[in-house]
Amino acid sequence: MKLHEYQSKQLFAEHGVPIPRGEVAETPAQVRAIAEQLGGSVAVKSQVLVGGRGKAGGIRLAKSPEEAEQLAAAILELEINGLPVRKVLVDEASEIVTEIYLGVTNDRTQGTPVIIASAEGGIEIEEVARDHPEKIVRAWVDPLIGLRDYQARNLAAAMELPRQHWGEFSRMARGLFDTYWSLDATLAEINPLVITREEKLLALDGKIVLDDNALYRHPELEELRDLDEEAPSEREARGHGLSYVKLDGNIGCLVNGAGLAMATMDVIKGLGGEPANFLDIGGGADAEKVAAAIQIILSDPDVHAMMFNIFGGITRCDEVARGILMALEEVSREVYLVTRLVGTNEELGRRILAEAKMDTASSLVEAAEMVIAASKVSVSE
Ligand code: GDP
Ligand code: MN
Repeated sequence: MKLHEYQSKQLFAEHGVPIPRGEVAETPAQVRAIAEQLGGSVAVKSQVLVGGRGKAGGIRLAKSPEEAEQLAAAILELEINGLPVRKVLVDEASEIVTEIYLGVTNDRTQGTPVIIASAEGGIEIEEVARDHPEKIVRAWVDPLIGLRDYQARNLAAAMELPRQHWGEFSRMARGLFDTYWSLDATLAEINPLVITREEKLLALDGKIVLDDNALYRHPELEELRDLDEEAPSEREARGHGLSYVKLDGNIGCLVNGAGLAMATMDVIKGLGGEPANFLDIGGGADAEKVAAAIQIILSDPDVHAMMFNIFGGITRCDEVARGILMALEEVSREVYLVTRLVGTNEELGRRILAEAKMDTASSLVEAAEMVIAASKVSVSE
């Protein structure tokens, strides 16, 4: 779950990271009132959960409350990467001297959090990594100890930050790490962390990605979810307790079990097909859940063929077969479908499908070959 800039910065501030004074608004009139309170000179920043806000005209600087109101009116009309701007953050403008990158994420190979910094702040860290990898410095954090002061100072030294800022930088790094750690985040990022003309350090932009699987430990964070910003299919899937991730291919996949779903996608890909999604209906999926899953897969217009791969342990194969038939009754789109059913009540399940004149397969490879062939026919039509 991604958080907005204004939400991320608020959480940083709660952990001792200094941020500019500012407030969120939804109308130009509100923006004007906030700008008046902040003294006139402000940054008006679109709050959308996609990158490239600046390039799209979604971040503007205003010298007066009137100008802020005008700019806000324009920004609130924008659509950035397909998402309409509904909110803007109005921040007191800063006079920037230096822009730094500072982020924390998981290093999966090391199995620990890693804190990443670069004197090349303000631009995407992926770009820095590509063009100037030597400008990125890292420190690995022992989760039992936390970020040590000397580690933060080493980062400051490696970036050649003036020595008078090392103490403040180190406090910010620890605040950022504490935010990341205490919220079970997978990413916490300040880009840019700026040094202002008054020699103050501030988190000018903020980004937090929370681990959905740890959200149950933070019920208060669930309220920060912005339903307007989620893909409707993913929201729908979550509502039904399904794990769904949309991909770019044209073969819809419905599988029970995350591991089996991954294996299914690998086999399809390995045999020359392109999966359109990851979807795990989980254990004990009943007819209604199967029906919801089919609807979600078919709501993707790229899907030309579907494959169901069900290992019936807790989920009984006859239940699944009935779910498939029930769902197909409600679906108007005709796409090819093959089902591989094995496990509890598999014969009954296959008989139900065969009676409805549907294709079944007993092996994963056989099913994958059938669905790939069908997906290619549909594509070339
Ligand atoms: P992003 O492009 O979506 O990452 O948005 P940021 O919040 O990082 O802003 C992009 C750039 O706009 C920053 O790197 C700054 O150079 C500039 N910017 C943002 N806020 C201010 C501000 O208050 N004052 C000034 N002078 N520049 C700002
Ligand atoms: Mn940024």
